Amino acid sequence: MTETASASLPETPPAATAERLSLVGLDREELGEALRQVGVPERQVRMRVAQLWHWIYLRGVDDFAAMTNIAKDLRTRLDAACSIAYPEIVSEQVSVDGTRKWLLRFPPAGAGRPVEVETVYIPEEGRGTLCVSSQVGCTLNCAFCHTGTQKLVRNLSAGEIVAQIRLARHRIGDFPDAATPTGAIVPGEGRLVTNIVMMGMGEPLYNFDNVKKALFIASDNEGLGLSRRRITLSTAGVVPMIERTGAEIGAMLAISLHAVRDELRDVLVPINRKYPIAELMEACRTFPGLSNARRITFEYVMLKGVNDSPEEARELVRLLKGIPAKINLIPFNPWPGSAYECSDWETIETFAAIVNRAGYASPIRTPRGRDILAACGQLKSTSERLRARERMAMEAMIAGTGA
Ligand code: SF4
Repeated sequence: MTETASASLPETPPAATAERLSLVGLDREELGEALRQVGVPERQVRMRVAQLWHWIYLRGVDDFAAMTNIAKDLRTRLDAACSIAYPEIVSEQVSVDGTRKWLLRFPPAGAGRPVEVETVYIPEEGRGTLCVSSQVGCTLNCAFCHTGTQKLVRNLSAGEIVAQIRLARHRIGDFPDAATPTGAIVPGEGRLVTNIVMMGMGEPLYNFDNVKKALFIASDNEGLGLSRRRITLSTAGVVPMIERTGAEIGAMLAISLHAVRDELRDVLVPINRKYPIAELMEACRTFPGLSNARRITFEYVMLKGVNDSPEEARELVRLLKGIPAKINLIPFNPWPGSAYECSDWETIETFAAIVNRAGYASPIRTPRGRDILAACGQLKSTSERLRARERMAMEAMIAGTGA
């Protein structure tokens, strides 16, 4: 594992500032308005919007000076009023398996403080998946998830969500004319970020409008150009928003299921108390666009002695009957202080064999980036992690002194 702090990162771009308007994450209409504000005549607005879009999303530039088809005078005015900078990188960690995790800092929103979120890049044979965060912290407190122990600070803006994609593509050399860092593990050919999963910190359906806007930008053909079939939005089960996700965003859907009985899911994924399994399954059955080519992925974390019995595997099969589905079995990734253990390999294989026999493709997801706490359910802003560690040390000290 290697870790670098922002001060020593090569070519670390300037951080976005709170004072200048960030153009990243604006839709075309908003970009047009920003251009009017800096004095671009109405007849030029459309053309200039197209130029900015191209430079920001297709070429990934972070400096107006690079926009060579825009007059110098306008570039200067844009630079004075607006920003296209990448977010500040607090740390960049690279796992032995090539997984990369960035801790990114965004400026305060309004009177708040700067916030930090994690973004993870997972290179595999033939594809590169970027796991993107939608909130700082989370309200849902899933029992096996590290992020759930960090209380919600705020939603990320569309710009902050898109910035994670831009930053990752920049750091791994996935924009045209950019170089991939020496020794980086990336797919052999083609684009390096091929898939997006909204599976990082937060519940994306509790930040629906910003996530929707960001994913529209991510899938825009004149810019980042990711197919919506390669964008997956993962929810813990915010049932009333599932229909809108299919109808309005058109991304693929993943459900963090993790249990097949309400009593257990109430504990593991507490939102289940509000939207129990039967309601969740009904929302999945009627998900717009659902077909064998557009299956819903059901995530199932394997917790030793908790949810991993053959009976539960059979119940899972029964539950998903009639839903075009895939099952992802995720060996639990422990984190400091977690109360659960990962199921034994044999148990996982027995479970997988049952769902496989029922016709569900259920690859056992090999944990990635475990050495840098980048695997599923392990994300948390590092400062928060340090604070938690300090709290634990303090508690141990108090306990030790008998206070
Ligand atoms: S699994 Fe997702 S929804 Fe649940 S606490 Fe973690 S980040 Fe929040």
